[in-house]
Amino acid sequence: MPKPQTLLALNWKMNKTPSEATAWANDLKEKLHLGAAEVAIMAPAIDLQALSWFLKDTGVQLGGQDVSQHESGAYTGEISAAMLKDVGAKYAVVGHSERREYHAESSQVVAGKARAALSGGLVPVICVGEGLEVRERGEHVSYTLDQLRDSLAGITISSAAQIVVAYEPVWAIGTGRTATAADAEELCGAIRNALSGLLGEVGGGVQVLYGGSVKGGNVAEICAQPNVNGALVGGAALEVASVLEMVAELG
Ligand code: PEP
Repeated sequence: MPKPQTLLALNWKMNKTPSEATAWANDLKEKLHLGAAEVAIMAPAIDLQALSWFLKDTGVQLGGQDVSQHESGAYTGEISAAMLKDVGAKYAVVGHSERREYHAESSQVVAGKARAALSGGLVPVICVGEGLEVRERGEHVSYTLDQLRDSLAGITISSAAQIVVAYEPVWAIGTGRTATAADAEELCGAIRNALSGLLGEVGGGVQVLYGGSVKGGNVAEICAQPNVNGALVGGAALEVASVLEMVAELG
């Protein structure tokens, strides 16, 4: 199966006001020459309207950092898939380790969010990955694959072509401690095999990203691994210069 287009997904986390996002987008727009990789900004929901306006016609895609598992109604504070879609989002990150940890999101909730994203016409970027203790016990593969299976509950083969999975070992997020390219390949390959087992041929073709301290200097090596189809990037997503560096390195 040919490798899908590399996806460089930029997770801003809780950074940048709409004014800051607008200035950033204008700067990026002046300097960006998109290459082989698709670029998507996973921005705070409140920034998306401005980004969608200022980045229109650039080819840069947008995504939310979370989405409600409910379609609409009395869920104060939540953002629905339809709302994200309406402001131009293509993607929604679900199950980021910070949501799992600080908001006690279980894989069952993550699966509900992934299904809601799909029903609303968004591509869920489903995050999985082990913490340091699990890695040190040598149980990272089985732990991550269990989390993956639970986070995919109820996702049908017919909708599976529209999902992205991101392997993000928690010990590598925001720590500067990157998994080696071989570590990333080990887990992304195991995820792909599991996806094939669960979802057949469509599962084997799902885009699998690696995330955890990716930046200019390591992005190309990691994304060149046979089973890695892109990166989910936090810290290095904040400065236009470092985004341009990664885009250039991806060719
Ligand atoms: C992330 O937030 O998904 C992430 C991978 O962060 P960082 O690149 O800063 O490790």
